[in-house]
Amino acid sequence: MSTHKFSPKGSVAGLRPRAIVAGGAGFIGSHLCEYLLEKNFYVICVDNLLTGSMRNIKHLLSNPYFRFHRADVTRPLSLRGRAEVIFNLASPASPWDYLRLPLQTLAAGSLGTRNLLDLAVRKEAVFVLASTSEVYGDPEVHPQQENYRGNVNPVGVRSCYDEAKRYAEALTMAYHRKYGLSTRIARIFNTYGPRMKPDDGRVIPDMIMRALRGRPLRIFGNGMQTRSFCYVTDMVEGLFRLTRCPDPMPINLGSPEETTILGLAQILGRALKRKIRMRFLPALEDDPRKRKPDISRAMHLLSWKPSVPLKQGLASTIDWFRSIYT
Ligand code: NAD
Repeated sequence: MSTHKFSPKGSVAGLRPRAIVAGGAGFIGSHLCEYLLEKNFYVICVDNLLTGSMRNIKHLLSNPYFRFHRADVTRPLSLRGRAEVIFNLASPASPWDYLRLPLQTLAAGSLGTRNLLDLAVRKEAVFVLASTSEVYGDPEVHPQQENYRGNVNPVGVRSCYDEAKRYAEALTMAYHRKYGLSTRIARIFNTYGPRMKPDDGRVIPDMIMRALRGRPLRIFGNGMQTRSFCYVTDMVEGLFRLTRCPDPMPINLGSPEETTILGLAQILGRALKRKIRMRFLPALEDDPRKRKPDISRAMHLLSWKPSVPLKQGLASTIDWFRSIYT
């Protein structure tokens, strides 16, 4: 099998290339489906709606080049027809989701990834795994490069997610090495934007919703822990560019613009033009102190870096939350 047969122009003359987006009814997945439709793909969105929602894709259902297939990827998948690329985003992703769904999260990373890899082998498709910066755990090197092997607690409360993704990466590499499957691994860092759930515990929706309701923002620990936030349109562009790059080794996708959680609260206050109050709470277990990607590989191999500044992305996200929830 070829290791690089996908061309974004389509593999069959005159026909749209077909993409399967597992987890396509989720936050990033729904933006990816939109993006692929704009790029003239035929898109099959596979999702069991465990943490996603039909609301995220309802505007796509009338598109003749979009199909929704409700299925659990942890069960064997039979999807007829060709596919040139398969994106695996199917997994609970927010801490509150994976903490309440630890077994489903482990199953999605293991069985789900395996079923999608098998599908990719049958269809001779390029396989793209949405992995995560959580594979670095609470990192001891900063910023994180792809060759850093991480500092993950294998029995901590977050291990259901971190270890599932580490296993999914190992499985993906095994399929690449054993079957010559054309695979990609994206290590996604914190991504934000419209369609995040207001109550999934991730810091940006949590802060926006509290600020809009006039409540104090919750700061876990002293607020000096850092994160780097990538706007979702930049992320889907990176995921798409990855399909064109034959390198199977992991590539960090995220913003190198680092912000403390306290700094984020202040930027939000300015964007909302409100005086914000803060409530300090005990630090969360195994919550990383620092998180920032080294994106040299993505810049070099994909000619990619985020283009939406945090201030601008937050303004669009606030507008969306305001329009939906107030
Ligand atoms: P999300 O929860 O909004 O989307 C995940 C989607 O997968 C949901 O629609 C859910 O219903 C679906 N799903 C879960 N288990 C499934 C199963 N067994 N079968 C079929 N569908 C299933 O999360 P998201 O933020 O959009 O994340 C998408 C992917 O990106 C995840 O794999 C996540 O690990 C990865 N990621 C996201 C971030 C981020 O900041 N959002 C960071 C790192 C990695």
